[in-house]
Amino acid sequence: MKPAAASLDVERVRADFPILAQQVNGRPLVYLDSAASGQRPLAVLRAVEHYETHLHSNVHRGVHTLSQAATEAFEGARARARRFINARSAREILFVRGTTEGINLVAQSYGRSRLGPGDEILITALEHHANIVPWQMVCEQNGCTLKVAPIDRRGELDLERLFELLNARTRLVALAHVSNALGTVLPVKRIVEAAHSCGALVLVDGAQAVPHTAVDVRELGCDFYAFSGHKLYGPTGIGVLYGREELLEEMPPWQGGGDMIRTVSFEKSTYNELPWKFEAGTPNISGAVGLAAAMDYLESLGAAAVAAHEHHLLALATAELQAIPGIEIVGTAAHKAAVLSFTLRGCHPHDLGTILDSEGVAIRTGHHCAMPVMTFFGIPATARASFGCYNTESDVRALVAALDKAREVFG
Ligand code: PMP
Repeated sequence: MKPAAASLDVERVRADFPILAQQVNGRPLVYLDSAASGQRPLAVLRAVEHYETHLHSNVHRGVHTLSQAATEAFEGARARARRFINARSAREILFVRGTTEGINLVAQSYGRSRLGPGDEILITALEHHANIVPWQMVCEQNGCTLKVAPIDRRGELDLERLFELLNARTRLVALAHVSNALGTVLPVKRIVEAAHSCGALVLVDGAQAVPHTAVDVRELGCDFYAFSGHKLYGPTGIGVLYGREELLEEMPPWQGGGDMIRTVSFEKSTYNELPWKFEAGTPNISGAVGLAAAMDYLESLGAAAVAAHEHHLLALATAELQAIPGIEIVGTAAHKAAVLSFTLRGCHPHDLGTILDSEGVAIRTGHHCAMPVMTFFGIPATARASFGCYNTESDVRALVAALDKAREVFG
């Protein structure tokens, strides 16, 4: 029998996040915007401070002690990230600014050099703009074609239609692991198998998945996997692009500059080995250190315990909101993670967000960088509450109470 997952001691977790202990607009802060950016635990803040206070110098170039210490910290973070997603080698871990940059790297390096007229890129109707626009740019540059697999009214991907759209012309499938606008979890492994059987590569946008579930890129079988540090309780301006080594070896560099070269002459330059071939210029060293600390932190809580806790909050909030007259939940897929999008009849989501903020409740309102999802549902925007490891049942109650206030105003 498998041992039961340890449950989360949320009060202890909250003590690790001093930012949560403040008042906003005279009310205790209720932070329900972790899908936009997670808060950072002290362990991350301290790791960054320690690096900046004692170890900082530029990496890879110096023989002096501090430069070696910084290089060790930076490359140590890469080794940590490799373990976090179970990549085969640290050569497969590229540090980037975030998910957006990771996807653009693949689009410009792989897409632009390998795709042309007649080739198809297949995405889904759930995608964040970061997983739409880079592919549109490649299509404009190279004459390939973008195809989109539809979703249904619950926010589920139409898998049958996706499988129909997959064909010998499909060269790359790019899809979210978890939708940021609706919370839908996509069956990535099944899609990877189907795509590979057509000879297509698969890029997974893992921005919303890594904070909520343990990710094993070898188990998923994907070719590329991108995620951001700041959604994972780490710093902004740092993220990871995983790519299979054989593919990265073959791909041309994306940006040129220092660190990514082996030799430079005016006639010709030769490139560095992986992963540095894709890391031109001075990287975000303290960001990588903070990201590694965030991975340590999350693993110390236990991915299964965090997921179970967040799932409980999502189920509770869903049931509570469903019972409120005028509230409509947008995105009711069977398998969801930590995101609850909704509208309140007669109230624009931005006005709702402002009222909730005056009650100390921080949610996100807008199109969530997923305009096609909003268009599909025929709405301009939603209000979105999202949960992290530090949220509590009392946060859900505060959300419900603030929504009741909003209904008094707009009811
Ligand atoms: N994809 C998804 C699903 C996201 O939720 C986000 C962030 N909202 C991104 C991509 C872009 O991430 P970043 O802004 O950190 O590059």
